[in-house]
Amino acid sequence: MSSRDPRDLAPATRLVGGGRPARAPGASVSPELVLTSTYVADGDVNYAHVSNPTWSAFEETLAGLESDEPDARALAFASGMGAISAALSLLPHGGHVVVPEHFYNGTSGLLDVCDVPAVVRATRAVGALVVEDNTFNTPLGRRPLADGVDVVVRSVTKYLAGHSDVVLGALVTNDPALAERLHTQRTLGGAIPGPQEAWLALRGMRTLHLRWERACANAAVLAARLAEHPRITRVRYPGGGAMIAVEVDGGAEAAQAVERAVSVWLPATSLGGVESMLERRRRHALEPVTVPENLLRLSVGVEDVEDLWFDLREALDSLGTP
Ligand SMILES: *Cc1c(COP(=O)(O)O)cnc(C)c1O
Repeated sequence: MSSRDPRDLAPATRLVGGGRPARAPGASVSPELVLTSTYVADGDVNYAHVSNPTWSAFEETLAGLESDEPDARALAFASGMGAISAALSLLPHGGHVVVPEHFYNGTSGLLDVCDVPAVVRATRAVGALVVEDNTFNTPLGRRPLADGVDVVVRSVTKYLAGHSDVVLGALVTNDPALAERLHTQRTLGGAIPGPQEAWLALRGMRTLHLRWERACANAAVLAARLAEHPRITRVRYPGGGAMIAVEVDGGAEAAQAVERAVSVWLPATSLGGVESMLERRRRHALEPVTVPENLLRLSVGVEDVEDLWFDLREALDSLGTP
């Protein structure tokens, strides 16, 4: 038995080993999927709204990934939106919310690259809380709690679960009082996750480091090549991560034609899965009009980068020379 503190382990090791049952002869190595709506009386938990051992396996692993603080706590929610609603419950009556221009449902993280430490300093000065939705990144790319953010929001649906087969959300904080308020909100608000979703998300997270590394490497190659393509007028790529936005010469029609022409890339919304996806964002009625009509958002997956490039280049070449 090693006496090493799990907080001394690298993220990859925490991801692979996190949330496993206590080691004992004959014990399962994989967490149990506990499907129950209630618990026998006189234990710590009385009903499914409060907690579930499968959620806990996922939550402990995520908390250890987001933070080295012993008090760090993650709470799983039924979806990213359920997590965001719970975070909004922290607002005092008559309180104010300050949000970036392109927040979720926009191309958040692509058009606005935010100076988080500066935002944290400004909010501290007025005694406000900072809640950051870091879904377009991962705790391997950046840990918002280390920058002084109070609560991190994650749509686990995206990179953490990583296989486009789960909808789940999470909030993570280092502050036990905030964690308690958010836990109460989850219990009473009802956005509790299904145990199977938490199980699948933890299973997906075991390879997050490998998927993230490959997706980021693929994105760097593609962003550079896209910038050279004559039908691409603009590339938005923050220099890291696996999300790229490009503007296609020829307007909405041309961007739509690229969506139709690809065969390896999936024309679909969402992001963060092993499979590469792209979509023209303005196809959604709610997309802000400040997002250009010809903008394609690319979520780069973990396929072979040459196959991804060949497919994309062929689709762009099929538009003809500008
Ligand atoms: C997808 C997404 C959400 C919503 O999460 P769901 O799990 O789909 O409810 C929130 N924020 C961002 C940045 C997202 O990409």
